[in-house]
Amino acid sequence: MSGGPVAAVIGGGIIGSTVAWRMAQRGWRIALFEKGELGNEASWAGAGMLSPGGEVEERSPFADLCRHSRSLYGAYVEELVCKSGITIDYRECGAIDLAYTPVEWTLLQARAAVQQTIGIRSREISPARLQTFSPYVRTEGLAGALFYPDDAIVDPREIMQALRIVCVKQGVEISEHTPVEHIDVRSGQAEINGRPYDAAIVAAGAWSDRIEVSGVPSLPASEPLKGHLIGFDLQLGACPTILRHGHTYLLQRGTGRLIAGSSVEHAGFDRQISPSIAGQLKRKATAVLPVLEKLETADVWTGLRPGAQQLHLGRWHGSPLFLAYGHFRNGILLAPASAERIVAEM
Ligand SMILES: Cc1cc2nc3c(=O)[nH]c(=O)nc-3n(C[C@H](O)[C@H](O)[C@H](O)COP(=O)(O)OP(=O)(O)OC[C@H]3O[C@@H](n4cnc5c(N)ncnc54)[C@H](O)[C@@H]3O)c2cc1C
Repeated sequence: MSGGPVAAVIGGGIIGSTVAWRMAQRGWRIALFEKGELGNEASWAGAGMLSPGGEVEERSPFADLCRHSRSLYGAYVEELVCKSGITIDYRECGAIDLAYTPVEWTLLQARAAVQQTIGIRSREISPARLQTFSPYVRTEGLAGALFYPDDAIVDPREIMQALRIVCVKQGVEISEHTPVEHIDVRSGQAEINGRPYDAAIVAAGAWSDRIEVSGVPSLPASEPLKGHLIGFDLQLGACPTILRHGHTYLLQRGTGRLIAGSSVEHAGFDRQISPSIAGQLKRKATAVLPVLEKLETADVWTGLRPGAQQLHLGRWHGSPLFLAYGHFRNGILLAPASAERIVAEM
């Protein structure tokens, strides 16, 4: 590496890889350290909903960041596709929130009223219209449904394939199977394994607080929040929009693979699959899309969402250390805006 400021990015998930790429585009020489392989943790497991409509309950800086990141997504994907040559399954398909009891319907309408005031659009759709959108959805017992036209989906695994290529093309030096255990901050630099960097960005997801630091206060806590997802093979078009009912959601990839989720479990770093949780997910998904009852579950997987008390995104105590973790359920959505924020603060 020669010429220009030098930075280390720790963690090669969607957040670290997007930060590394964007910084390299602005002339930084980047060393990206990954303890395993790029994009094999939460960013591999994520469903890929880009859904301010499903996530935002009130006006807040987090809500603004979600909406802003959603607005950046089309251009982010287009640039990744153009520069990597990888096809990315990205669809601005919208989402439908379903209510099967009057109470659920009242809650959905109240949330939508708040969301409208912060620019998240939705509109009521009738059962007849619902079936033209989504022919297999259960309408029996339906109390109401809202369509969110601006929600979208993306395949995070394809995003990660593309990020690896664009990072390499942009000169990012990727070191896989290279965990960073300690960062020593002194004299305005961050030293890792005896080498000084002008800046270091911690984007190590659920593992972030395990990195020891000296010269600055220890890093704020991070916590793995395990989630199960299940997959089915169904003809394409069976689920053309995201379907949501409470904490259950369904979406279909361009390959036909239908994904249903999800659980949120405090189980430490354990990734084991629980047949009982997979069974519960299938029952909940079948209540929305009855056609699933006859289908075998084709795949089950888990991932560790990066939980934290709050999203950490920015400079740590005026030092050359930057934090980019705690994205919990929304790291796929928040990747473009998170990288933009870090680059702006540099
Ligand atoms: C079941 C499930 C469903 C989800 N669905 C969605 C969704 O629909 N939409 C959405 O926006 N988000 C979703 N998410 C959340 C999203 O996947 C995460 O928020 C996002 O992937 C976090 O990205 P990250 O880069 O911070 O973390 P990760 O992808 O976990 O990357 C962190 C990386 O850091 C590496 N690392 C850790 N410690 C070190 C170290 N000491 N040195 C070097 N490297 C290290 C890890 O190996 C890992 O590769 C979902 C997550 C799960 C589990």
